[in-house]
Amino acid sequence: MPRQIWEKKEVYPFRALREGVGMNRIGILTSGGDAPGMNACIRAVVRVALSQGLEVWGIRHGYAGLIRGEMGPMDRGSVANIIHQGGTILGTARSPEFTTREGRALAIQIIHKAGIDGLVLIGGDGTFRGGTLLKEESGVDIVGVPGTIDNDVYGTDYSIGFDTAINTALEAIDRIRDTALSHDRLFFVEVMGHHTGFIALESGIAGGAEELIIPEVPENIDKLCRQLDASFRRGKRSAIVVVAEVEQPGNAFRIAQEVRDKAGFESKVCILGHIQRGGSPTAWDRILASKLGAAAVEALENGKGGHMLGEINGKIAYTPLKDTWEKKKELDSDLKELVKLLSG
Ligand code: ATP
Repeated sequence: MPRQIWEKKEVYPFRALREGVGMNRIGILTSGGDAPGMNACIRAVVRVALSQGLEVWGIRHGYAGLIRGEMGPMDRGSVANIIHQGGTILGTARSPEFTTREGRALAIQIIHKAGIDGLVLIGGDGTFRGGTLLKEESGVDIVGVPGTIDNDVYGTDYSIGFDTAINTALEAIDRIRDTALSHDRLFFVEVMGHHTGFIALESGIAGGAEELIIPEVPENIDKLCRQLDASFRRGKRSAIVVVAEVEQPGNAFRIAQEVRDKAGFESKVCILGHIQRGGSPTAWDRILASKLGAAAVEALENGKGGHMLGEINGKIAYTPLKDTWEKKKELDSDLKELVKLLSG
């Protein structure tokens, strides 16, 4: 008799709950900006949890959907063929209502009504701020998994989605370099980063940017003009300056204008914007997401609620949820130095 290659679907409600384990039904949501690899993480959480005899409920549209009670059971099939997809099959949202105590009280009612005794949050520092309060106010076990292209979450070397985002930015920088070289032009390329320079620094180094403007280094337009002038005098005929968007998209336009006013250099500006968010995740992001998703389920089972699962120096790291947003993740100072050495 040939073996079936598909697996029998789990039957809900799940009856074979594990004896002696306080955790029976876990919920999972994605929150904040979407990031490539979130789906791979959802898949890992669902499949590892089911294999451990836990039920998994998917909550749609982050905290907003939680407050509205948008949720339902997930089985192995519900996460089939999503590992390569960007975005999040659960949907995501930003929920002002959840930032209020009343909003969270509604969410807590829903959690209890649904019988959810553990929650996996995939998102960024804002999501974990909310998660910290939710844990304090509900007593439910909560674990976080860093999923944001910004990579600005303390407690992990990389967050899910960052690698894909820098590769997307890099591809764009490479393309712009062709034009910059062909037309002898100065380009300002603006990348995302939410008040941090992680995307700018790594895509800038990989793309051979002549200069970087990041929020971690005080802005000095005069110095930038002098450096550009020096490199043009040395014979360069084109240059790329990678700029972090910081507050709002459009920071690069302001800088280009100031450089024009001060030094007379004409330039072109390219704002990469949301194309950095989507797309099929890189192998790195898929693997990281799978590891952290599995670790999140294990953490819930082992009574390690209240932590975010990250990876530091290749090892799974537990960081108290509160630290993930209270402490500041620093840019790699060696990389910052490297930019100075390599720009010519
Ligand atoms: P990204 O880095 O991709 O923007 P994020 O998780 O930081 O992701 P936010 O929009 O900052 O995205 O936060 C997601 C949600 O978390 C918010 O919409 C809000 O509902 C909740 N949240 C954020 N900050 C707080 C807070 N101080 N208190 C309670 N909830 C919060």
